[in-house]
Amino acid sequence: MQQMQQNDNNTQRAKDYQKQQLKLNLLEEICTLLFLIIWVKISPYFVDKIPLQGYWLLIALAGALYISYQLALFIFDYLAGYQLEHKYQLSNETFSAWLWRHTKMIILSGVFLGILVILLYTALWHLKYWYLWCWAGWMIFTVLIAQIFPVIILPIFYKSTPLENETLLNRFRELAKTIGMNIEGIYSLELSKSTKKANAMLTGLGSTRRVLLGDTLLDNLSQKEIEVVFAHELGHHAHRHSFKLLTLNAVISIILFSLFYLILSQYAGSDPQTMKISIQQLPLIALVMSIFSFLSRPAINAISRYFENQSDRFALELTNNSDAFITAFEKLADQNLADPDPSTLVVWMYYDHPPIRDRIAMAKSGKSQI
Ligand SMILES: [Zn+2]
Repeated sequence: MQQMQQNDNNTQRAKDYQKQQLKLNLLEEICTLLFLIIWVKISPYFVDKIPLQGYWLLIALAGALYISYQLALFIFDYLAGYQLEHKYQLSNETFSAWLWRHTKMIILSGVFLGILVILLYTALWHLKYWYLWCWAGWMIFTVLIAQIFPVIILPIFYKSTPLENETLLNRFRELAKTIGMNIEGIYSLELSKSTKKANAMLTGLGSTRRVLLGDTLLDNLSQKEIEVVFAHELGHHAHRHSFKLLTLNAVISIILFSLFYLILSQYAGSDPQTMKISIQQLPLIALVMSIFSFLSRPAINAISRYFENQSDRFALELTNNSDAFITAFEKLADQNLADPDPSTLVVWMYYDHPPIRDRIAMAKSGKSQI
């Protein structure tokens, strides 16, 4: 009886937490749209009033847009990223540590976005088939980021160390060997400094490819359960999901660059007057991107959930241990305060992994579900 009461309390707590996260996400998305619409309206005045030209004008507008956006929407980052996590005891990170991590993220994204904007306009002003160059450049950029992510980007935020638990490592090698894979890079990721939530991922490309297991996950799950999570990550490798996601990115970015073409093609070339008008379109490009990402999200999430489901089934087949799979996901749901029963609409819009109830139900029935 007491156990049931405890479960009910946990379920209610998870539901409340997810509901508040969802509310903040939605509000942030609406505010982003409004913010960008305002910038679309004011950018002609901004471009007119600033006594700069060419690249300097572009950098001034891009900088003003980015910094004002970060300041205006900081409240959502604080509420969702810090306040809510503390309210539900999911983090004991100090405010200054959180702020520092958040600032690093803003600086890094700003640098990447800045480089992309400069490359886009350089192509527009100086190259004949600028949209094709941009698309090719974007694909190279994506591959490069995927490659350097675990060795350059992730260490800026979290420390990772090679896993030292020999018993686990031997078991992982055994599992990998049964599918003819030679896994070398298995790391423990120090998440516990900033969160109590557990996570694992397969990341990197080529020589940087590795499996990362959060220390929060390693500490909370039994060996058999960790094996199931590891086997799930192997499933992504075996099903070549990274390659498939890159292909998906190629298709999606073709649509996005076609939209950019519609907005910018009339301003191609290096005439100073048309250059100025092209710069003015930057907030409109940001607005189109954010509407596009909102509208395309259900399809992308559905594909992602399909891949996750494939990896789950792979893990079940490889380990042949559905009991460990079920208890692992029960523990993870509890640890991450996952909503046990999210609505279909919420799943479509926000879930790139199947809800945990579906993953457990799949393991119980042996059938696949998305
Ligand atoms: Zn996965």
